[in-house]
Amino acid sequence: MTEKVLILGSGPAGLTAAIYSARADLAPVMIEGFERGGQLMLTTDVENYPGFPDGIMGPELMEAMRKQAERFGTKIISSDITAVDLSKRPFKVWVGEDLYEAETIIVSTGASARWLDVPGEHRLRGYGVSACATCDGFFFRDKDLVVVGGGDSAMEEATFLTKFASKVTIVHRRGEFRASKIMAQRALDNPKVDVVWNSEVVEVLGGDLVTGVRLNNTETGEKSELAVDGVFVAIGHDPNTSFFQNQLELDKGGYIVTESGTTKTSVEGVFAAGDVIDHVYRQAVTAAGMGCEAALDAERLLEAWEV
Ligand code: NAP
Repeated sequence: MTEKVLILGSGPAGLTAAIYSARADLAPVMIEGFERGGQLMLTTDVENYPGFPDGIMGPELMEAMRKQAERFGTKIISSDITAVDLSKRPFKVWVGEDLYEAETIIVSTGASARWLDVPGEHRLRGYGVSACATCDGFFFRDKDLVVVGGGDSAMEEATFLTKFASKVTIVHRRGEFRASKIMAQRALDNPKVDVVWNSEVVEVLGGDLVTGVRLNNTETGEKSELAVDGVFVAIGHDPNTSFFQNQLELDKGGYIVTESGTTKTSVEGVFAAGDVIDHVYRQAVTAAGMGCEAALDAERLLEAWEV
């Protein structure tokens, strides 16, 4: 059987695409992936998703979107894709031995934050360790924070976090930033920002909540501790596009390239939405908006094809 719309990924982009295409009677099938619900499953309170004046927990928001998608008949496959062939229609997607064929595909496989992979980091995620200042900065009013990284993301997060924190220490593994001059200068000019150069975080310390970090000086090997209440890891994101290499046009960062103003990829009938195409905004609400656009783009194409 050839599906009309096959959606890959189950974050806000994929689930919104599912809600729209299900309500358009396109009987979408979604392969939700092992990281069901996407990055919001890793956050605690979401206070900036419109419609929830008292905030909502990330996992609860995703569960609500999932229910809404199912209510209109989305079929959800709780597995990860294992192979993809977009060379001709119908497109083919494998989940192990199972083959799914589809007239259109919406790729919403998201991106994953890079983590340090040091002791304490994983255990304290959501309890002082975060990879998203926009999501979690608000909870650190008058606290001391560390931001790890030396790129534009680290500068942006550090500057943003000074709105709440009493002090933000950027820990960077080298003696100069990778960030653009203007963003680095903005961070450095901020009286609340300090930098610890040539240092890496080798452990996140704390019992139930973060209490500090252990640092290693990359030049001298000297170890030290810094007492902080939160650690923001800003060492970049990787789009989840390994299956689409050589199948869709990707940019140099591995993000799927879409035609300006649409969700069309380099292959007609394949659309992309959410963090897999976006390294700038990366918000649940922007991803949801793109998911809606992808569903409408797919619906229009199916209509034009009279499928
Ligand atoms: P990035 O430019 O790749 O920088 C990553 C930073 O993290 C680098 O400084 C790197 O150190 C450090 N790093 C990587 N792995 C590490 C590890 N395991 N331990 C410690 N440090 C580590 O990533 P990004 O800052 O997320 O930016 C990604 C892209 O988005 C860039 O093109 C950026 O310009 C763009 N961006 C733009 C804006 C804006 O214009 N508003 C905001 C954010 C991002 P090294 O320097 O030593 O490699």
